[in-house]
Amino acid sequence: MARQILVAGNWKMNGSKDSINSLIDGIKAGLGSVDKAAVAVCPPYIYISEVTGLVDGTDIGVGGQNLSTEASGAFTGEISADMLNDFGCKYAIVGHSERRSLYGEDDALVANKYAVARAKGLTPILCVGETLEERESGITEEVVARQLDAVIALEGVAALVDGVIAYEPVWAIGTGMTATPEQAQDVHAFIRARIAESDAVVADKVQILYGGSVKGSNAAELFAKDDIDGGLIGGASLDAEDFLAICRSAP
Ligand code: PEP
Repeated sequence: MARQILVAGNWKMNGSKDSINSLIDGIKAGLGSVDKAAVAVCPPYIYISEVTGLVDGTDIGVGGQNLSTEASGAFTGEISADMLNDFGCKYAIVGHSERRSLYGEDDALVANKYAVARAKGLTPILCVGETLEERESGITEEVVARQLDAVIALEGVAALVDGVIAYEPVWAIGTGMTATPEQAQDVHAFIRARIAESDAVVADKVQILYGGSVKGSNAAELFAKDDIDGGLIGGASLDAEDFLAICRSAP
Protein backbone atom coordinates (compact mmCIF):
# COMPACT_ATOMS: atom_id res chain seq x y z
CA MET A 1 0.00 0.00 0.00
CA ALA A 2 1.24 3.46 -0.82
CA ARG A 3 1.62 5.51 2.32
CA GLN A 4 1.87 9.27 2.07
CA ILE A 5 5.21 10.83 2.86
CA LEU A 6 5.17 13.22 5.83
CA VAL A 7 7.96 15.68 6.50
CA ALA A 8 7.70 17.28 9.95
CA GLY A 9 10.06 19.93 11.27
CA ASN A 10 10.94 19.87 14.96
CA TRP A 11 12.21 23.35 15.69
CA LYS A 12 13.16 22.44 19.26
CA MET A 13 13.94 25.53 21.40
CA ASN A 14 14.97 27.73 18.49
CA GLY A 15 13.69 30.87 16.87
CA SER A 16 12.35 34.34 17.55
CA LYS A 17 9.27 36.13 16.26
CA ASP A 18 11.35 37.55 13.42
CA SER A 19 13.10 34.35 12.42
CA ILE A 20 9.88 32.32 12.60
CA ASN A 21 8.09 34.80 10.37
CA SER A 22 10.79 34.61 7.73
CA LEU A 23 11.06 30.83 8.03
CA ILE A 24 7.32 30.38 7.44
CA ASP A 25 7.37 32.98 4.64
CA GLY A 26 10.15 31.02 2.97
CA ILE A 27 8.40 27.68 3.35
CA LYS A 28 5.14 29.12 2.03
CA ALA A 29 6.91 30.67 -0.95
CA GLY A 30 8.34 27.28 -1.95
CA LEU A 31 5.35 25.12 -1.09
CA GLY A 32 4.15 25.07 -4.69
CA SER A 33 7.19 22.96 -5.58
CA VAL A 34 6.27 20.32 -3.00
CA ASP A 35 3.78 18.07 -4.70
CA LYS A 36 3.93 14.79 -2.82
CA ALA A 37 4.84 15.26 0.83
CA ALA A 38 2.53 16.39 3.60
CA VAL A 39 4.34 19.12 5.55
CA ALA A 40 4.22 19.98 9.24
CA VAL A 41 6.14 22.17 11.66
CA CYS A 42 6.44 21.87 15.45
CA PRO A 43 7.42 25.26 16.91
CA PRO A 44 8.18 25.99 20.55
CA TYR A 45 4.84 26.30 22.41
CA ILE A 46 5.02 30.05 22.72
CA TYR A 47 5.15 30.50 18.95
CA ILE A 48 2.37 28.07 18.07
CA SER A 49 -0.29 30.77 17.97
CA GLU A 50 1.88 32.93 15.70
CA VAL A 51 2.63 29.99 13.41
CA THR A 52 -0.95 28.73 13.10
CA GLY A 53 -1.89 32.26 12.04
CA LEU A 54 0.92 32.42 9.50
CA VAL A 55 0.10 29.05 7.91
CA ASP A 56 -3.65 29.63 7.83
CA GLY A 57 -4.99 28.78 4.39
CA THR A 58 -2.06 26.49 3.55
CA ASP A 59 -1.74 22.71 3.99
CA ILE A 60 1.07 23.07 6.53
CA GLY A 61 0.17 21.21 9.72
CA VAL A 62 1.30 22.47 13.10
CA GLY A 63 2.26 20.37 16.11
CA GLY A 64 3.44 20.66 19.68
CA GLN A 65 6.84 19.25 20.62
CA ASN A 66 5.39 17.68 23.77
CA LEU A 67 2.21 17.73 25.85
CA SER A 68 1.07 17.06 29.38
CA THR A 69 -0.79 13.91 30.37
CA GLU A 70 -2.99 16.09 32.57
CA ALA A 71 -6.11 17.91 31.39
CA SER A 72 -5.73 21.09 33.48
CA GLY A 73 -4.83 22.34 36.92
CA ALA A 74 -1.80 22.89 39.09
CA PHE A 75 0.92 21.71 36.69
CA THR A 76 3.21 24.70 36.35
CA GLY A 77 4.92 24.96 33.01
CA GLU A 78 2.83 22.27 31.32
CA ILE A 79 0.64 22.46 28.21
CA SER A 80 -2.41 20.25 27.69
CA ALA A 81 -3.81 18.54 24.62
CA ASP A 82 -6.86 20.82 24.78
CA MET A 83 -4.56 23.85 24.63
CA LEU A 84 -2.78 22.45 21.57
CA ASN A 85 -6.17 21.87 19.96
CA ASP A 86 -7.31 25.36 20.95
CA PHE A 87 -4.51 26.80 18.82
CA GLY A 88 -5.11 24.58 15.82
CA CYS A 89 -2.46 21.93 16.31
CA LYS A 90 -2.78 18.69 14.43
CA TYR A 91 0.22 16.83 15.84
CA ALA A 92 2.05 16.32 19.13
CA ILE A 93 5.53 14.83 19.31
CA VAL A 94 5.79 12.35 22.19
CA GLY A 95 8.89 10.65 23.54
CA HIS A 96 11.51 12.63 21.67
CA SER A 97 14.90 11.35 22.82
CA GLU A 98 15.71 14.76 24.33
CA ARG A 99 12.59 14.46 26.51
CA ARG A 100 13.55 10.92 27.43
CA SER A 101 17.19 11.65 28.26
CA LEU A 102 17.07 15.23 29.62
CA TYR A 103 13.69 15.19 31.35
CA GLY A 104 13.49 11.58 32.46
CA GLU A 105 10.46 10.58 30.39
CA ASP A 106 10.13 6.81 30.52
CA ASP A 107 8.21 4.43 28.28
CA ALA A 108 5.14 4.44 30.54
CA LEU A 109 4.89 8.25 30.56
CA VAL A 110 5.44 8.43 26.80
CA ALA A 111 2.71 5.83 26.25
CA ASN A 112 0.40 7.93 28.42
CA LYS A 113 1.19 11.01 26.37
CA TYR A 114 0.42 9.03 23.22
CA ALA A 115 -2.92 7.98 24.72
CA VAL A 116 -3.88 11.50 25.80
CA ALA A 117 -2.95 13.06 22.44
CA ARG A 118 -4.92 10.38 20.61
CA ALA A 119 -7.95 10.69 22.88
CA LYS A 120 -8.02 14.41 22.17
CA GLY A 121 -7.87 13.97 18.41
CA LEU A 122 -4.24 15.00 17.97
CA THR A 123 -1.92 12.82 15.89
CA PRO A 124 0.88 11.71 18.19
CA ILE A 125 4.32 11.42 16.60
CA LEU A 126 5.89 8.68 18.72
CA CYS A 127 9.69 8.84 18.74
CA VAL A 128 11.64 5.65 19.31
CA GLY A 129 15.33 4.92 18.90
CA GLU A 130 18.48 3.52 20.44
CA THR A 131 21.60 5.20 21.80
CA LEU A 132 25.01 4.52 20.28
CA GLU A 133 25.87 2.31 23.23
CA GLU A 134 22.71 0.28 22.72
CA ARG A 135 23.42 -0.10 19.00
CA GLU A 136 26.97 -1.19 19.69
CA SER A 137 25.70 -3.71 22.24
CA GLY A 138 23.44 -5.18 19.56
CA ILE A 139 20.19 -4.33 21.33
CA THR A 140 18.69 -1.82 18.89
CA GLU A 141 15.67 -4.01 18.14
CA GLU A 142 15.11 -4.81 21.80
CA VAL A 143 15.09 -1.11 22.72
CA VAL A 144 12.81 -0.04 19.89
CA ALA A 145 10.44 -2.96 20.58
CA ARG A 146 10.26 -2.02 24.26
CA GLN A 147 9.42 1.62 23.42
CA LEU A 148 6.77 0.55 20.92
CA ASP A 149 5.29 -2.19 23.07
CA ALA A 150 4.61 0.29 25.87
CA VAL A 151 2.12 2.07 23.61
CA ILE A 152 0.64 -1.17 22.25
CA ALA A 153 0.18 -2.52 25.78
CA LEU A 154 -1.65 0.61 26.91
CA GLU A 155 -3.69 1.45 23.84
CA GLY A 156 -3.83 -1.69 21.72
CA VAL A 157 -2.17 -2.13 18.36
CA ALA A 158 -5.02 -0.49 16.41
CA ALA A 159 -4.18 2.80 18.15
CA LEU A 160 -1.04 3.03 16.05
CA VAL A 161 -3.00 4.02 12.94
CA ASP A 162 -4.03 7.21 14.71
CA GLY A 163 -0.42 8.22 15.14
CA VAL A 164 2.90 8.33 13.35
CA ILE A 165 6.07 6.58 14.46
CA ALA A 166 9.44 8.30 14.12
CA TYR A 167 12.51 6.09 14.28
CA GLU A 168 15.27 8.38 15.50
CA PRO A 169 18.56 6.72 16.40
CA VAL A 170 19.82 8.93 19.23
CA TRP A 171 23.38 8.82 17.86
CA ALA A 172 22.19 10.39 14.61
CA ILE A 173 20.27 13.31 16.13
CA GLY A 174 22.01 16.63 15.66
CA THR A 175 25.33 14.89 15.13
CA GLY A 176 25.57 14.93 11.34
CA MET A 177 25.85 11.12 11.55
CA THR A 178 22.87 9.94 9.51
CA ALA A 179 21.98 6.28 9.62
CA THR A 180 22.61 4.82 6.18
CA PRO A 181 19.40 4.25 4.23
CA GLU A 182 19.99 0.50 4.74
CA GLN A 183 20.47 0.84 8.51
CA ALA A 184 17.32 2.93 8.76
CA GLN A 185 15.33 0.63 6.49
CA ASP A 186 16.35 -2.40 8.60
CA VAL A 187 14.92 -0.86 11.75
CA HIS A 188 11.82 0.45 9.97
CA ALA A 189 11.18 -3.03 8.57
CA PHE A 190 11.67 -4.48 12.04
CA ILE A 191 9.12 -2.03 13.49
CA ARG A 192 6.59 -2.84 10.78
CA ALA A 193 7.14 -6.58 11.22
CA ARG A 194 6.71 -6.30 14.95
CA ILE A 195 3.39 -4.49 14.50
CA ALA A 196 2.37 -7.06 11.86
CA GLU A 197 2.76 -9.81 14.45
CA SER A 198 -0.33 -8.27 16.09
CA ASP A 199 -2.09 -6.75 13.09
CA ALA A 200 -0.90 -6.83 9.49
CA VAL A 201 -3.38 -4.18 8.32
CA VAL A 202 -2.20 -1.70 10.95
CA ALA A 203 1.43 -2.48 10.10
CA ASP A 204 0.79 -1.73 6.46
CA LYS A 205 -0.98 1.55 7.17
CA VAL A 206 1.21 3.11 9.85
CA GLN A 207 3.58 5.88 8.73
CA ILE A 208 7.13 5.40 10.00
CA LEU A 209 9.34 8.49 9.66
CA TYR A 210 13.11 8.53 9.95
CA GLY A 211 14.84 11.23 11.98
CA GLY A 212 18.51 11.95 12.51
CA SER A 213 20.51 14.47 10.50
CA VAL A 214 18.23 14.32 7.46
CA LYS A 215 19.29 16.89 4.85
CA GLY A 216 18.37 17.77 1.29
CA SER A 217 21.35 15.69 0.19
CA ASN A 218 20.32 12.42 1.83
CA ALA A 219 16.52 12.64 2.05
CA ALA A 220 15.72 11.16 -1.37
CA GLU A 221 17.74 8.02 -0.71
CA LEU A 222 16.12 7.56 2.69
CA PHE A 223 12.59 8.22 1.49
CA ALA A 224 13.03 5.80 -1.41
CA LYS A 225 13.27 2.89 1.03
CA ASP A 226 10.17 0.69 1.26
CA ASP A 227 9.43 1.26 4.92
CA ILE A 228 10.51 4.90 5.29
CA ASP A 229 7.51 7.20 4.98
CA GLY A 230 9.11 10.57 5.50
CA GLY A 231 11.18 12.36 8.09
CA LEU A 232 11.21 14.16 11.40
CA ILE A 233 13.68 16.95 10.81
CA GLY A 234 15.56 18.93 13.44
CA GLY A 235 18.39 21.24 12.35
CA ALA A 236 17.52 21.33 8.66
CA SER A 237 13.94 22.40 9.41
CA LEU A 238 15.20 25.79 10.60
CA ASP A 239 16.17 26.85 7.09
CA ALA A 240 13.35 27.18 4.55
CA GLU A 241 15.44 26.10 1.56
CA ASP A 242 16.92 23.09 3.36
CA PHE A 243 13.52 22.05 4.65
CA LEU A 244 11.86 22.46 1.26
CA ALA A 245 14.61 20.42 -0.41
CA ILE A 246 13.75 17.59 1.99
CA CYS A 247 10.03 18.00 1.33
CA ARG A 248 10.69 17.82 -2.40
CA SER A 249 12.54 14.51 -1.96
CA ALA A 250 9.35 12.52 -1.53
CA PRO A 251 9.33 9.83 -4.21
C1 PEP B 1 15.26 15.54 15.89
O1 PEP B 1 15.64 16.11 16.90
O2 PEP B 1 14.11 15.06 15.87
C2 PEP B 1 16.18 15.43 14.76
C3 PEP B 1 15.97 14.50 13.89
O3 PEP B 1 17.22 16.33 14.73
P1 PEP B 1 18.32 16.52 13.56
O4 PEP B 1 17.57 16.47 12.25
O5 PEP B 1 18.93 17.84 13.83
O6 PEP B 1 19.27 15.37 13.69
